[in-house]
Amino acid sequence: MDNGLLSWLKGQEGRAFELHDEHVNPAFVKMLRTIGFDKRYVRGQGPYLWDDQGNKYLDLLTGWGVFALGRNHPKIQKALVEIINADLPNLVRMSCSPLSGLAAEMLTKHAGGDLSRVFFCNSGTETIEGALKFARCVTGRQDVVYCDHAFHGLTGGALAINGADFFRERFGALTPGTRKVPFNDLAALEAALSTKTAAAFVIEPVQGKSCEVVADGYLAAAQRLCKKYGSLLVIDEVQTGLGRTGKWFCYQHWAEVQPDIVCCAKALSGGFVPVGAIITTPRVMDCVFSGMERCVVHSNTFGQNDLAMAAAIASLRVIEEEKLVENAATMGEYAMTRLREIGKTCPFVSDVRGKGLMFGIDFARPKDSMKLKLAWDMVHKLNFGVFGQMIIIPLLQKHRILTQVAGYHTEVIKFLPPITVSKDDVDWFLNAMTDVLADVQRFPGAAWDTVSTLAKRAVMA
Ligand code: PLP
Repeated sequence: MDNGLLSWLKGQEGRAFELHDEHVNPAFVKMLRTIGFDKRYVRGQGPYLWDDQGNKYLDLLTGWGVFALGRNHPKIQKALVEIINADLPNLVRMSCSPLSGLAAEMLTKHAGGDLSRVFFCNSGTETIEGALKFARCVTGRQDVVYCDHAFHGLTGGALAINGADFFRERFGALTPGTRKVPFNDLAALEAALSTKTAAAFVIEPVQGKSCEVVADGYLAAAQRLCKKYGSLLVIDEVQTGLGRTGKWFCYQHWAEVQPDIVCCAKALSGGFVPVGAIITTPRVMDCVFSGMERCVVHSNTFGQNDLAMAAAIASLRVIEEEKLVENAATMGEYAMTRLREIGKTCPFVSDVRGKGLMFGIDFARPKDSMKLKLAWDMVHKLNFGVFGQMIIIPLLQKHRILTQVAGYHTEVIKFLPPITVSKDDVDWFLNAMTDVLADVQRFPGAAWDTVSTLAKRAVMA
Protein backbone atom coordinates (compact mmCIF):
# COMPACT_ATOMS: atom_id res chain seq x y z
CA MET A 1 0.00 0.00 0.00
CA ASP A 2 3.05 2.29 0.22
CA ASN A 3 2.56 3.43 -3.37
CA GLY A 4 -1.12 4.16 -2.80
CA LEU A 5 -4.24 2.13 -3.45
CA LEU A 6 -4.72 3.26 -7.04
CA SER A 7 -1.31 2.15 -8.22
CA TRP A 8 -1.79 -1.18 -6.42
CA LEU A 9 -5.15 -1.50 -8.16
CA LYS A 10 -3.46 -0.86 -11.51
CA GLY A 11 -1.34 -3.94 -10.93
CA GLN A 12 -4.53 -6.01 -10.49
CA GLU A 13 -6.14 -4.85 -13.75
CA GLY A 14 -8.34 -7.26 -15.68
CA ARG A 15 -9.05 -9.55 -12.71
CA ALA A 16 -12.53 -8.31 -11.68
CA PHE A 17 -14.68 -10.96 -13.40
CA GLU A 18 -12.32 -13.75 -12.45
CA LEU A 19 -12.34 -12.57 -8.79
CA HIS A 20 -16.11 -12.32 -8.68
CA ASP A 21 -16.43 -15.73 -10.27
CA GLU A 22 -14.19 -17.16 -7.57
CA HIS A 23 -15.12 -15.15 -4.46
CA VAL A 24 -18.29 -13.10 -4.86
CA ASN A 25 -21.19 -14.35 -7.00
CA PRO A 26 -20.45 -16.72 -9.91
CA ALA A 27 -24.12 -16.86 -10.94
CA PHE A 28 -24.08 -13.10 -11.46
CA VAL A 29 -20.90 -13.30 -13.51
CA LYS A 30 -22.47 -16.01 -15.66
CA MET A 31 -25.56 -13.88 -16.27
CA LEU A 32 -23.43 -10.90 -17.34
CA ARG A 33 -21.39 -13.06 -19.70
CA THR A 34 -24.49 -14.73 -21.16
CA ILE A 35 -26.10 -11.47 -22.21
CA GLY A 36 -22.81 -9.80 -23.18
CA PHE A 37 -22.89 -7.25 -20.36
CA ASP A 38 -19.41 -8.20 -19.15
CA LYS A 39 -17.88 -4.85 -20.07
CA ARG A 40 -14.94 -3.53 -18.12
CA TYR A 41 -15.92 -0.04 -17.07
CA VAL A 42 -13.01 2.09 -15.99
CA ARG A 43 -14.42 5.59 -15.50
CA GLY A 44 -17.64 7.36 -14.64
CA GLN A 45 -18.52 11.02 -14.94
CA GLY A 46 -21.98 12.59 -14.86
CA PRO A 47 -24.36 10.44 -16.95
CA TYR A 48 -21.51 8.59 -18.69
CA LEU A 49 -19.40 5.48 -18.23
CA TRP A 50 -16.28 4.54 -20.21
CA ASP A 51 -15.01 1.04 -20.82
CA ASP A 52 -11.39 -0.09 -21.13
CA GLN A 53 -11.62 0.28 -24.92
CA GLY A 54 -12.39 3.99 -24.54
CA ASN A 55 -16.07 3.59 -25.51
CA LYS A 56 -18.49 6.04 -23.90
CA TYR A 57 -21.85 4.84 -22.58
CA LEU A 58 -24.98 6.66 -21.44
CA ASP A 59 -26.04 5.21 -18.09
CA LEU A 60 -29.82 4.97 -17.69
CA LEU A 61 -29.57 2.49 -14.86
CA THR A 62 -27.66 4.86 -12.56
CA GLY A 63 -26.81 2.16 -10.04
CA TRP A 64 -30.56 1.54 -9.52
CA GLY A 65 -31.11 5.22 -8.91
CA VAL A 66 -28.13 5.94 -6.67
CA PHE A 67 -26.44 8.20 -9.25
CA ALA A 68 -29.40 10.54 -9.60
CA LEU A 69 -26.94 13.45 -9.66
CA GLY A 70 -24.64 11.66 -12.07
CA ARG A 71 -21.37 9.98 -11.18
CA ASN A 72 -18.66 11.80 -9.28
CA HIS A 73 -20.44 15.13 -9.09
CA PRO A 74 -17.57 17.62 -8.54
CA LYS A 75 -19.36 19.64 -5.82
CA ILE A 76 -20.18 16.54 -3.78
CA GLN A 77 -16.71 15.11 -4.32
CA LYS A 78 -15.18 18.38 -3.13
CA ALA A 79 -17.40 18.48 -0.03
CA LEU A 80 -16.40 14.93 0.90
CA VAL A 81 -12.69 15.57 0.44
CA GLU A 82 -13.06 18.67 2.65
CA ILE A 83 -14.77 16.64 5.37
CA ILE A 84 -12.19 13.82 5.21
CA ASN A 85 -9.36 16.32 5.53
CA ALA A 86 -10.98 18.22 8.41
CA ASP A 87 -10.33 15.63 11.16
CA LEU A 88 -13.87 16.04 12.51
CA PRO A 89 -14.80 14.19 15.71
CA ASN A 90 -17.33 11.92 13.83
CA LEU A 91 -19.63 9.41 15.60
CA VAL A 92 -18.87 10.51 19.14
CA ARG A 93 -22.27 9.04 19.99
CA MET A 94 -22.60 10.78 23.35
CA SER A 95 -22.97 14.10 21.53
CA CYS A 96 -24.96 15.76 18.72
CA SER A 97 -23.33 16.18 15.33
CA PRO A 98 -24.00 19.47 13.50
CA LEU A 99 -23.92 17.67 10.14
CA SER A 100 -26.79 15.29 10.93
CA GLY A 101 -28.80 18.13 12.47
CA LEU A 102 -28.36 20.22 9.33
CA ALA A 103 -29.14 17.31 7.00
CA ALA A 104 -32.35 16.73 8.98
CA GLU A 105 -33.27 20.43 8.80
CA MET A 106 -32.81 20.46 5.01
CA LEU A 107 -34.76 17.26 4.43
CA THR A 108 -37.69 18.28 6.60
CA LYS A 109 -37.84 21.70 4.90
CA HIS A 110 -38.49 19.93 1.60
CA ALA A 111 -40.89 17.36 3.07
CA GLY A 112 -42.93 20.10 4.75
CA GLY A 113 -46.09 19.79 6.84
CA ASP A 114 -45.74 17.91 10.11
CA LEU A 115 -42.76 15.92 8.82
CA SER A 116 -40.19 17.61 11.04
CA ARG A 117 -38.16 14.68 12.41
CA VAL A 118 -35.58 12.38 10.78
CA PHE A 119 -34.01 9.08 11.70
CA PHE A 120 -30.84 8.36 9.69
CA CYS A 121 -29.72 4.90 8.64
CA ASN A 122 -27.64 3.16 5.98
CA SER A 123 -29.89 1.95 3.18
CA GLY A 124 -33.36 1.92 1.68
CA THR A 125 -34.33 -1.39 3.20
CA GLU A 126 -33.27 -0.15 6.63
CA THR A 127 -35.64 2.81 6.30
CA ILE A 128 -38.45 0.31 5.72
CA GLU A 129 -37.45 -1.82 8.71
CA GLY A 130 -37.48 1.31 10.87
CA ALA A 131 -40.79 2.52 9.46
CA LEU A 132 -42.44 -0.84 10.22
CA LYS A 133 -41.14 -0.76 13.80
CA PHE A 134 -42.24 2.84 14.29
CA ALA A 135 -45.73 2.12 12.93
CA ARG A 136 -46.10 -0.91 15.20
CA CYS A 137 -44.93 1.07 18.18
CA VAL A 138 -47.33 3.98 17.55
CA THR A 139 -50.42 1.89 16.80
CA GLY A 140 -49.76 -1.08 19.06
CA ARG A 141 -50.67 -3.25 16.06
CA GLN A 142 -48.65 -5.85 14.19
CA ASP A 143 -50.03 -6.16 10.67
CA VAL A 144 -48.89 -4.37 7.52
CA VAL A 145 -50.77 -3.84 4.27
CA TYR A 146 -48.76 -3.59 1.05
CA CYS A 147 -49.24 -3.73 -2.72
CA ASP A 148 -48.94 -6.38 -5.36
CA HIS A 149 -45.61 -5.97 -7.26
CA ALA A 150 -44.20 -3.87 -4.41
CA PHE A 151 -40.48 -3.69 -3.79
CA HIS A 152 -39.24 -2.25 -0.50
CA GLY A 153 -35.89 -3.99 -0.08
CA LEU A 154 -34.73 -7.48 0.78
CA THR A 155 -34.14 -7.64 4.54
CA GLY A 156 -36.60 -9.58 6.71
CA GLY A 157 -39.35 -7.02 7.28
CA ALA A 158 -39.09 -5.46 3.83
CA LEU A 159 -39.13 -8.91 2.24
CA ALA A 160 -42.33 -9.77 4.10
CA ILE A 161 -44.02 -6.94 2.16
CA ASN A 162 -42.44 -7.75 -1.20
CA GLY A 163 -45.09 -8.15 -3.88
CA ALA A 164 -43.33 -10.90 -5.84
CA ASP A 165 -43.15 -14.55 -4.74
CA PHE A 166 -39.87 -14.87 -6.62
CA PHE A 167 -37.98 -12.85 -3.98
CA ARG A 168 -39.63 -14.58 -1.02
CA GLU A 169 -39.37 -18.19 -2.11
CA ARG A 170 -36.90 -20.44 -0.28
CA PHE A 171 -36.13 -17.95 2.48
CA GLY A 172 -38.34 -19.56 5.10
CA ALA A 173 -41.15 -18.07 7.15
CA LEU A 174 -41.39 -14.30 7.00
CA THR A 175 -43.02 -11.84 9.41
CA PRO A 176 -46.68 -12.85 9.77
CA GLY A 177 -49.62 -10.46 9.48
CA THR A 178 -48.77 -8.92 6.13
CA ARG A 179 -51.58 -8.47 3.64
CA LYS A 180 -51.23 -7.83 -0.08
CA VAL A 181 -53.71 -5.65 -1.98
CA PRO A 182 -53.82 -4.85 -5.69
CA PHE A 183 -52.13 -1.56 -6.59
CA ASN A 184 -54.53 1.38 -7.04
CA ASP A 185 -57.50 -0.60 -5.67
CA LEU A 186 -59.19 1.45 -2.93
CA ALA A 187 -61.95 -1.07 -2.22
CA ALA A 188 -59.36 -3.79 -1.54
CA LEU A 189 -57.36 -1.38 0.62
CA GLU A 190 -60.43 -0.50 2.66
CA ALA A 191 -61.24 -4.18 3.14
CA ALA A 192 -57.68 -4.79 4.39
CA LEU A 193 -57.59 -1.78 6.71
CA SER A 194 -61.13 -2.12 8.06
CA THR A 195 -60.11 -5.06 10.26
CA LYS A 196 -58.32 -2.40 12.35
CA THR A 197 -55.31 -4.66 12.81
CA ALA A 198 -52.93 -2.92 10.41
CA ALA A 199 -50.16 -0.76 11.83
CA ALA A 200 -49.41 0.67 8.40
CA PHE A 201 -50.10 0.77 4.71
CA VAL A 202 -46.78 0.93 2.83
CA ILE A 203 -46.71 2.09 -0.78
CA GLU A 204 -44.34 3.27 -3.54
CA PRO A 205 -45.99 6.14 -5.47
CA VAL A 206 -44.33 4.82 -8.63
CA GLN A 207 -43.65 1.11 -8.40
CA GLY A 208 -40.04 0.28 -9.17
CA LYS A 209 -40.82 -3.14 -10.62
CA SER A 210 -43.73 -2.17 -12.85
CA CYS A 211 -43.42 1.63 -13.29
CA GLU A 212 -47.14 1.82 -12.41
CA VAL A 213 -48.03 5.22 -10.96
CA VAL A 214 -50.65 5.81 -8.25
CA ALA A 215 -53.88 7.10 -9.79
CA ASP A 216 -54.81 10.74 -9.18
CA GLY A 217 -56.60 10.95 -5.85
CA TYR A 218 -55.50 7.47 -4.74
CA LEU A 219 -52.95 8.51 -2.11
CA ALA A 220 -55.30 11.11 -0.60
CA ALA A 221 -58.07 8.51 -0.39
CA ALA A 222 -55.62 5.95 1.05
CA GLN A 223 -54.63 8.52 3.66
CA ARG A 224 -58.30 9.05 4.61
CA LEU A 225 -58.76 5.29 4.95
CA CYS A 226 -55.63 5.01 7.10
CA LYS A 227 -56.94 7.77 9.39
CA LYS A 228 -60.39 6.19 9.53
CA TYR A 229 -59.07 2.77 10.56
CA GLY A 230 -56.13 3.92 12.69
CA SER A 231 -53.19 2.85 10.44
CA LEU A 232 -50.17 4.92 9.43
CA LEU A 233 -49.51 5.86 5.82
CA VAL A 234 -45.90 5.02 4.94
CA ILE A 235 -44.71 6.30 1.56
CA ASP A 236 -41.61 4.60 0.22
CA GLU A 237 -39.72 7.31 -1.67
CA VAL A 238 -36.42 5.43 -1.67
CA GLN A 239 -36.38 5.57 -5.46
CA THR A 240 -38.88 8.33 -6.24
CA GLY A 241 -37.61 10.85 -3.67
CA LEU A 242 -35.38 13.91 -4.06
CA GLY A 243 -36.49 15.20 -7.42
CA ARG A 244 -36.65 12.01 -9.46
CA THR A 245 -40.32 12.44 -10.46
CA GLY A 246 -40.30 16.23 -10.87
CA LYS A 247 -41.18 17.09 -7.24
CA TRP A 248 -38.96 16.87 -4.19
CA PHE A 249 -41.06 13.90 -3.10
CA CYS A 250 -43.42 12.12 -5.45
CA TYR A 251 -46.42 12.32 -3.06
CA GLN A 252 -46.21 16.12 -3.45
CA HIS A 253 -47.71 15.81 -6.92
CA TRP A 254 -51.01 15.56 -5.01
CA ALA A 255 -51.37 18.61 -2.76
CA GLU A 256 -53.52 17.11 -0.03
CA VAL A 257 -51.28 14.11 0.76
CA GLN A 258 -49.57 14.20 4.18
CA PRO A 259 -47.94 10.84 4.97
CA ASP A 260 -47.05 9.80 8.51
CA ILE A 261 -43.70 8.39 7.40
CA VAL A 262 -41.57 8.98 4.28
CA CYS A 263 -38.61 6.71 3.50
CA CYS A 264 -35.79 7.98 1.35
CA ALA A 265 -32.26 6.82 0.43
CA LYS A 266 -30.48 6.25 -2.92
CA ALA A 267 -30.06 9.80 -4.34
CA LEU A 268 -29.37 11.19 -0.85
CA SER A 269 -25.99 9.46 -1.01
CA GLY A 270 -24.85 11.61 -3.94
CA GLY A 271 -23.66 8.26 -5.26
CA PHE A 272 -20.84 8.25 -2.71
CA VAL A 273 -21.85 7.13 0.80
CA PRO A 274 -24.77 4.82 1.68
CA VAL A 275 -27.45 6.69 3.62
CA GLY A 276 -31.14 6.36 4.37
CA ALA A 277 -33.57 8.71 6.09
CA ILE A 278 -36.93 8.06 7.73
CA ILE A 279 -38.77 11.37 7.76
CA THR A 280 -41.69 11.47 10.14
CA THR A 281 -43.77 13.49 12.57
CA PRO A 282 -43.18 14.39 16.24
CA ARG A 283 -46.19 12.19 17.10
CA VAL A 284 -44.42 9.11 15.70
CA MET A 285 -40.92 9.95 16.97
CA ASP A 286 -42.05 10.94 20.45
CA CYS A 287 -43.96 7.70 20.79
CA VAL A 288 -40.94 5.57 19.81
CA PHE A 289 -38.34 7.58 21.73
CA SER A 290 -40.69 8.26 24.60
CA GLY A 291 -38.18 9.20 27.29
CA MET A 292 -34.52 9.19 28.27
CA GLU A 293 -34.54 5.45 28.88
CA ARG A 294 -35.80 4.77 25.37
CA CYS A 295 -33.81 7.48 23.58
CA VAL A 296 -31.77 4.92 21.57
CA VAL A 297 -34.36 2.15 21.48
CA HIS A 298 -34.08 2.15 17.68
CA SER A 299 -30.54 2.88 16.58
CA ASN A 300 -27.57 1.86 14.44
CA THR A 301 -23.82 2.34 14.53
CA PHE A 302 -23.13 4.23 11.30
CA GLY A 303 -26.40 6.09 10.71
CA GLN A 304 -25.24 9.66 11.32
CA ASN A 305 -21.62 9.30 10.23
CA ASP A 306 -20.07 12.51 8.96
CA LEU A 307 -19.31 11.29 5.46
CA ALA A 308 -22.88 10.12 4.86
CA MET A 309 -24.27 13.34 6.29
CA ALA A 310 -21.89 15.48 4.22
CA ALA A 311 -22.88 13.52 1.10
CA ALA A 312 -26.56 14.11 1.95
CA ILE A 313 -26.11 17.84 2.57
CA ALA A 314 -23.99 18.34 -0.54
CA SER A 315 -26.51 16.38 -2.63
CA LEU A 316 -29.46 18.41 -1.33
CA ARG A 317 -27.56 21.63 -2.06
CA VAL A 318 -26.76 20.50 -5.61
CA ILE A 319 -30.43 19.60 -6.23
CA GLU A 320 -31.45 23.07 -5.00
CA GLU A 321 -28.70 25.08 -6.74
CA GLU A 322 -28.86 23.30 -10.10
CA LYS A 323 -32.68 23.28 -10.14
CA LEU A 324 -32.69 19.56 -10.73
CA VAL A 325 -36.27 18.97 -9.60
CA GLU A 326 -37.37 21.28 -12.41
CA ASN A 327 -34.99 19.55 -14.86
CA ALA A 328 -36.44 16.13 -13.97
CA ALA A 329 -39.97 17.44 -14.61
CA THR A 330 -39.07 18.98 -18.00
CA MET A 331 -36.83 16.19 -19.28
CA GLY A 332 -39.20 13.51 -17.97
CA GLU A 333 -42.15 15.06 -19.78
CA TYR A 334 -40.12 15.36 -22.99
CA ALA A 335 -38.74 11.81 -22.81
CA MET A 336 -42.07 10.16 -22.07
CA THR A 337 -44.02 12.14 -24.66
CA ARG A 338 -41.52 11.26 -27.39
CA LEU A 339 -41.19 7.64 -26.24
CA ARG A 340 -44.99 7.27 -26.44
CA GLU A 341 -44.89 8.56 -30.02
CA ILE A 342 -42.06 6.19 -30.91
CA GLY A 343 -43.87 3.34 -29.14
CA LYS A 344 -46.90 3.78 -31.41
CA THR A 345 -44.74 2.69 -34.36
CA CYS A 346 -44.04 -0.70 -32.76
CA PRO A 347 -46.84 -3.27 -32.26
CA PHE A 348 -44.97 -4.92 -29.36
CA VAL A 349 -45.21 -1.79 -27.19
CA SER A 350 -48.22 -2.00 -24.88
CA ASP A 351 -47.54 0.98 -22.62
CA VAL A 352 -45.15 3.77 -21.70
CA ARG A 353 -45.66 4.92 -18.12
CA GLY A 354 -43.99 6.59 -15.17
CA LYS A 355 -43.46 10.00 -13.66
CA GLY A 356 -40.70 12.50 -14.32
CA LEU A 357 -37.41 10.72 -14.91
CA MET A 358 -38.63 7.33 -13.69
CA PHE A 359 -40.39 5.70 -16.59
CA GLY A 360 -40.72 2.39 -18.32
CA ILE A 361 -41.80 0.75 -21.53
CA ASP A 362 -43.95 -2.37 -21.40
CA PHE A 363 -44.24 -4.99 -24.11
CA ALA A 364 -46.99 -7.48 -24.94
CA ARG A 365 -48.02 -9.94 -27.64
CA PRO A 366 -49.00 -7.88 -30.69
CA LYS A 367 -52.68 -7.79 -31.57
CA ASP A 368 -52.61 -7.77 -35.38
CA SER A 369 -49.59 -9.15 -37.23
CA MET A 370 -49.63 -12.97 -37.41
CA LYS A 371 -45.91 -13.04 -38.14
CA LEU A 372 -45.03 -10.97 -35.07
CA LYS A 373 -47.42 -12.97 -32.89
CA LEU A 374 -45.57 -16.08 -33.99
CA ALA A 375 -42.22 -14.49 -33.19
CA TRP A 376 -43.44 -13.45 -29.72
CA ASP A 377 -44.79 -16.94 -28.99
CA MET A 378 -41.56 -18.54 -30.14
CA VAL A 379 -39.35 -16.74 -27.62
CA HIS A 380 -41.95 -16.90 -24.85
CA LYS A 381 -42.16 -20.66 -25.15
CA LEU A 382 -38.50 -20.68 -24.25
CA ASN A 383 -38.46 -18.10 -21.49
CA PHE A 384 -40.83 -15.40 -20.27
CA GLY A 385 -39.15 -12.04 -19.87
CA VAL A 386 -36.65 -12.68 -22.63
CA PHE A 387 -38.20 -10.12 -24.98
CA GLY A 388 -36.86 -7.34 -22.74
CA GLN A 389 -33.35 -8.67 -23.41
CA MET A 390 -33.96 -8.10 -27.08
CA ILE A 391 -34.24 -4.41 -26.30
CA ILE A 392 -31.52 -3.96 -23.67
CA ILE A 393 -28.84 -5.93 -25.54
CA PRO A 394 -28.81 -3.77 -28.71
CA LEU A 395 -29.24 -0.67 -26.55
CA LEU A 396 -25.90 -1.56 -24.98
CA GLN A 397 -24.03 -3.19 -27.85
CA LYS A 398 -25.13 -0.96 -30.70
CA HIS A 399 -26.09 2.30 -29.02
CA ARG A 400 -23.94 2.19 -25.86
CA ILE A 401 -26.82 2.82 -23.49
CA LEU A 402 -26.93 0.88 -20.22
CA THR A 403 -30.40 -0.27 -19.09
CA GLN A 404 -31.97 -3.31 -17.47
CA VAL A 405 -35.38 -5.00 -17.31
CA ALA A 406 -37.35 -3.71 -14.32
CA GLY A 407 -37.67 -7.05 -12.56
CA TYR A 408 -37.79 -10.80 -12.88
CA HIS A 409 -40.38 -12.39 -15.17
CA THR A 410 -41.46 -9.06 -16.57
CA GLU A 411 -41.19 -7.41 -19.96
CA VAL A 412 -40.98 -3.89 -18.52
CA ILE A 413 -37.76 -1.97 -19.08
CA LYS A 414 -37.28 0.88 -16.66
CA PHE A 415 -35.22 3.99 -17.36
CA LEU A 416 -33.68 5.99 -14.52
CA PRO A 417 -31.55 8.70 -16.11
CA PRO A 418 -29.67 11.00 -13.78
CA ILE A 419 -31.87 13.99 -12.99
CA THR A 420 -29.04 16.15 -14.36
CA VAL A 421 -29.67 14.67 -17.83
CA SER A 422 -29.53 17.02 -20.85
CA LYS A 423 -31.85 17.11 -23.86
CA ASP A 424 -28.99 15.90 -26.08
CA ASP A 425 -28.63 12.77 -23.98
CA VAL A 426 -32.39 12.18 -23.91
CA ASP A 427 -32.25 12.44 -27.72
CA TRP A 428 -29.39 9.91 -27.79
CA PHE A 429 -31.74 7.53 -25.96
CA LEU A 430 -34.81 8.33 -28.09
CA ASN A 431 -32.93 7.82 -31.37
CA ALA A 432 -31.61 4.51 -30.08
CA MET A 433 -35.10 3.37 -29.07
CA THR A 434 -36.44 4.30 -32.53
CA ASP A 435 -33.80 2.08 -34.10
CA VAL A 436 -34.18 -0.84 -31.68
CA LEU A 437 -37.99 -0.86 -31.90
CA ALA A 438 -37.74 -0.88 -35.71
CA ASP A 439 -35.30 -3.82 -35.60
CA VAL A 440 -37.57 -6.04 -33.48
CA GLN A 441 -40.26 -5.74 -36.14
CA ARG A 442 -37.98 -7.48 -38.67
CA PHE A 443 -38.79 -11.16 -38.26
CA PRO A 444 -36.94 -13.28 -39.10
CA GLY A 445 -33.96 -11.09 -38.37
CA ALA A 446 -30.78 -10.69 -36.38
CA ALA A 447 -32.52 -9.39 -33.22
CA TRP A 448 -34.70 -12.52 -33.02
CA ASP A 449 -31.78 -14.85 -33.70
CA THR A 450 -29.85 -13.32 -30.82
CA VAL A 451 -32.70 -13.59 -28.39
CA SER A 452 -33.67 -17.15 -29.25
CA THR A 453 -30.06 -18.27 -28.83
CA LEU A 454 -30.05 -16.48 -25.50
CA ALA A 455 -33.33 -18.02 -24.37
CA LYS A 456 -32.07 -21.52 -25.29
CA ARG A 457 -28.89 -20.90 -23.34
CA ALA A 458 -30.91 -19.73 -20.33
CA VAL A 459 -33.11 -22.84 -20.51
CA MET A 460 -30.04 -25.07 -20.61
CA ALA A 461 -28.17 -23.23 -17.85
N1 PLP B 1 -37.62 0.77 -1.53
C1 PLP B 1 -37.59 0.99 -2.85
C2 PLP B 1 -38.77 1.67 -3.49
C3 PLP B 1 -36.51 0.59 -3.63
O1 PLP B 1 -36.52 0.81 -4.94
C4 PLP B 1 -35.42 -0.05 -2.99
C5 PLP B 1 -34.26 -0.51 -3.77
O2 PLP B 1 -34.25 -0.58 -4.96
C6 PLP B 1 -35.48 -0.24 -1.62
C7 PLP B 1 -36.58 0.18 -0.91
C8 PLP B 1 -34.32 -0.90 -0.91
O3 PLP B 1 -33.24 -0.05 -0.91
P1 PLP B 1 -31.74 -0.62 -0.64
O4 PLP B 1 -31.38 -1.44 -1.82
O5 PLP B 1 -30.91 0.62 -0.45
O6 PLP B 1 -31.83 -1.43 0.60
